[in-house]
Amino acid sequence: MFDALTDRLSGVFDGLTGKGSLSEKDVSSALREIRVALLEADVALDVVKQFIADIKPKAVGEDVIRSVKPGQQVIKIVNDGLVEMLGGNEEAQGLRIDNIPAVIMMAGLQGSGKTTTTGKLARRLKNHDRKKVLMASLDVYRPAAMHQLKVLGEQIEVDTLPITDGQMPVDIAKRAVNAAKLGGYDVVILDTAGRTTLDEQMMGEAAQVAEFANPAETILVADALTGQDAVETARRFNDRLKLTGLILTRMDGDGRGGAALSMRAVTGLPIKFLGTGEKSDGLEVFDARRIAGRILGQGDVVSLVERAAAELDEEKTKRMAEKMAKGVFDLEDMAEQFRQLQRMGGLGGIMGMMPGAKKAKAAMDSQGLDDKVIKRQEAIILSMTPKERAKPALLNASRKKRVAAGAGVHVSEVNKVLKMHKQMAGMMKKMGKGGMKQMAKAMGA
Ligand code: GDP
Repeated sequence: MFDALTDRLSGVFDGLTGKGSLSEKDVSSALREIRVALLEADVALDVVKQFIADIKPKAVGEDVIRSVKPGQQVIKIVNDGLVEMLGGNEEAQGLRIDNIPAVIMMAGLQGSGKTTTTGKLARRLKNHDRKKVLMASLDVYRPAAMHQLKVLGEQIEVDTLPITDGQMPVDIAKRAVNAAKLGGYDVVILDTAGRTTLDEQMMGEAAQVAEFANPAETILVADALTGQDAVETARRFNDRLKLTGLILTRMDGDGRGGAALSMRAVTGLPIKFLGTGEKSDGLEVFDARRIAGRILGQGDVVSLVERAAAELDEEKTKRMAEKMAKGVFDLEDMAEQFRQLQRMGGLGGIMGMMPGAKKAKAAMDSQGLDDKVIKRQEAIILSMTPKERAKPALLNASRKKRVAAGAGVHVSEVNKVLKMHKQMAGMMKKMGKGGMKQMAKAMGA
């Protein structure tokens, strides 16, 4: 999996980590090479462009963590970008199987590995989740497909719906759901008919089944080896069927990984599992962090930088607390707060973690404070000289004008930042005296 890409990237990283310091030119040329490597891996052009655009400012502008080499830091940034591209840090997506019986509908082109994957999922649900599973083939056009599922069921010891000739797919689906209710099954997996190409009748039929069965999961099975075709197939199925997730098969034979890398970004759908072999145990839960780690093959470097960054944050927090205790909070501190905020996933991320967050978020919204605004405010502070940041009172009209021009904003924006700094400094002073309790109170906890 991803072998070719891993090789290419490791070449790029070797060039970076050898150096004690990195110029902007070094970083730019590394990013160019990464771009080419991704394109050669058949990742969709738009996805590659977005990826580079996202990581570039971080790679050039990141705070330097003194205890790691700059090249190592760039690797970490590329790693984080990849994780994001693959679906972010959300928990590896299992299947939603809350209703009883929960219906899982499998869709996909013929030959994509749909039936094999149906068996793999059934086996996993039985062994791993201890569910009672029923499988049913809706492929009325290919009796061999129905038989294939039956044989598979016998192998993995999962029941299949008895085959009745001459029924329409939606009628088989009804029979399957009824049988599941009567038989006390937790999950019914419907293996819909596939064609060799996308056609309207197949889509219409699948949509009809979906309408009746109201599946908890509608999963597209796509062949990773077909690269961008798989991505296009997913996009078109999704237009018609409201997919809830993807499973990519034949990852065991895919050295490039273009489909796996583009799927999420293009379709917005989570990749739930990867098919990694013909046998019924060849199924792997998709985990963005693990996959990114595998692609980069730089796990040690990534965790080293993570540890160093955490230490740095801790150190900064400590220094900030000391300053606060003394009642000092300058513009540099405010910029640092903004940066920390962004590192922690922006306002949205922070708010999600805090008790009483809804109220505070509403208050921030009412002040028009969102992540974009915060970035702009940070830019304004960065346009000031260190002296001005330490002593905001220095900022007279002409200095404010210079700062505004530097940040590309109106002077009124600079005034807003200064006003906000005053408010924050006041709050910090109080907190320095009254401790965290007051802050919690302010947050409405
Ligand atoms: P369907 O027409 O979509 O139902 O496809 P099948 O399930 O019949 O699979 C077609 C072929 O692909 C079979 O030979 C499977 O063994 C094979 N296959 C399915 N998934 C995988 C996989 O993850 N890895 C490999 N190597 N082969 C797979």
